[in-house]
Amino acid sequence: MKPELPSPLVQIRPDWPGADALSILVKRDDLIHPVISGNKWRKLQPLLTSSNQHLAGIVSFGGGFSNHLHALGYVCAQQHIPFVAIVRGDYRDNPTPMLRDLSDWGASIRYVTKQEYRERSEPEYLHTLSTRYPGYKIIPEGGSQHEALAGIAALTEELPDNFDVMLSPVASGATLAGLSMSMKSHQQVIGVAVLKGEGYLESLVSSLLPRPNSAWTITHQYHHGGYARTSAPLLSFCRSFEEDTQIPVEPVYSGKLFFALKQMIGDGVFSAGQTIIALHTGGLQGKRK
Ligand SMILES: *Cc1c(COP(=O)(O)O)cnc(C)c1O
Repeated sequence: MKPELPSPLVQIRPDWPGADALSILVKRDDLIHPVISGNKWRKLQPLLTSSNQHLAGIVSFGGGFSNHLHALGYVCAQQHIPFVAIVRGDYRDNPTPMLRDLSDWGASIRYVTKQEYRERSEPEYLHTLSTRYPGYKIIPEGGSQHEALAGIAALTEELPDNFDVMLSPVASGATLAGLSMSMKSHQQVIGVAVLKGEGYLESLVSSLLPRPNSAWTITHQYHHGGYARTSAPLLSFCRSFEEDTQIPVEPVYSGKLFFALKQMIGDGVFSAGQTIIALHTGGLQGKRK
């Protein structure tokens, strides 16, 4: 399947307090591709367009619902690249839909303990992996290698110049880092933390940026208890948001993003007349049971 690009930019008019003073747009990266999740597709682009002929294969990491492993597994299958997925936890007895797809696409899945998974960016561990899988490219969790930033930055070429604030979910930080690099001087990008990571997420974003910039901030009030944690208000918000806008969301990333947007508008974070773009990063595959 060919990706749908540029992805649509649509206006929504929710009946939230304060929303009618703003122009609210949604960048529908969830529509880029039916299988590959929006920002994961963007992040993989620089990697995929550079030549893969010399690659013996690819190794990467993720949890049992990982949008990144899912996107990468699909792409590797399409391009006949051997793929090793290192998965946190043991799902052999009850694989998630995401893991079943990976197996169907011919990936070799290695289940590792939490302890081993924690070593995923340690030089020694990476060295062991490259000995075990010679000639393989090792891609970090979330697809957040340095090259990923260019793919994310390319997204902003599809946007009009006249917006003021962009909002994006943050987990491993590459999406926010890439966006911040391409903001104009009058623009800001606000990351909505989807996990408990005050300080930690900021250091991830900073470490990915080739040069520091002040176009980004992260808000930590909307993670609802942590990664993949939900709350009753979040779940009921997701349902009414889908009903009102006909835009599908899931509670791990996009649900928290739009929940935060509504609250921030209510709190008067934005000035009247501003144009806000919320980036729908996709991730709907993770919603499957
Ligand atoms: C991975 C992912 C994110 C987080 O992006 P990072 O670059 O890791 O911060 C956001 N939304 C969706 C749908 C994702 O799959």
